[in-house]
Amino acid sequence: MFGNYFTHGKAAESLAGDRARMVDTQLRSRGIRDERLLAAMAKVPREEFISSEDVADAYGDFPLPIGAGQTISQPYIVAAMVEALEVNPEDRVLEVGTGTGYEAAILAELAADVWTIERHAELVDKAREILQRLGYADVHVLHGDGSLGLGEHAPFNKILVAAAAPRVPETLVSQLADGGRLVVPVGSRSEQQVEVMRKLGDQISITKHDRCRFVPLVGAQGWEL
Ligand code: SAH
Repeated sequence: MFGNYFTHGKAAESLAGDRARMVDTQLRSRGIRDERLLAAMAKVPREEFISSEDVADAYGDFPLPIGAGQTISQPYIVAAMVEALEVNPEDRVLEVGTGTGYEAAILAELAADVWTIERHAELVDKAREILQRLGYADVHVLHGDGSLGLGEHAPFNKILVAAAAPRVPETLVSQLADGGRLVVPVGSRSEQQVEVMRKLGDQISITKHDRCRFVPLVGAQGWEL
C-alpha cells in the first residue's frame, strides 16, 4: 500500500508541500515575478531528477551533487537564470549543460522547442530517461561540446548556459536569432556574474546580474579540462 505513496522513502504529499513552500519562500519572496515560470517551478518534480539519497533535500536552498563531479544549482538560481532569459511560448531554446535535465523540463514548460546538450555521456543517458518518463519526450538531449552550440539547429531565440564560461562564447552569440537572448555566467573558475546578452540587428547589448558560482563550462569556447 505504500508503493505509490512514498517516493524513495519520503511521502509524495510531503514533497509536493516542500515544492509549494520552495516557490513561496525561495522564489516569490526573493523577487521572482514571472507567473509562468513560478507555475513551472511549482509543477516539475525536482525529486525525480536527483539521486535517491538526496530526495529529502530536493527543495533545499542549496546545490546538490548530480554525478560525474557536477552539481545542480539551488532552485532560486535556476529560476533567476530562466527569468532573465524571458522565455516566450513560441521560442526555440538551447540549454548548454543538461546535467540532470531538471532545468530542461522547466524550459519545456515555457517554450515551444527545447534543445539541450551535455558533455558527460552518463548524464545524457540519465536525463533522457527521466525526461521521457515524466512526459518531456520532445526535449532533444544531445551529447557533445555545447560551448560550440548546435550550428545545424540554429538559430535559437534563447540560449541558456548552465556552466561558467571564461568569456561569452562567440559561437553561441552567432547562433542567436534576431531579438534573441543569451544568459551565461562569466568570470573566473571560482566566481562569476550572470551576463544577459540581447541581439537586435547587428547590435549586442549586455547587462550584468547576480554573482554566482557554477561548475566550469569545459570545451572549445570554455575552460580546458
Ligand atoms: N541545468 C542542469 C545543471 C547544470 S550543471 C540541471 O538542471 O541539472 C552544468 C552542466 O554543464 C554539467 O552537467 C556539466 O557536465 C555540463 N557542461 C560543462 N561543460 C559543458 C560543455 N562544453 N558542453 C555541454 N555540457 C557541459
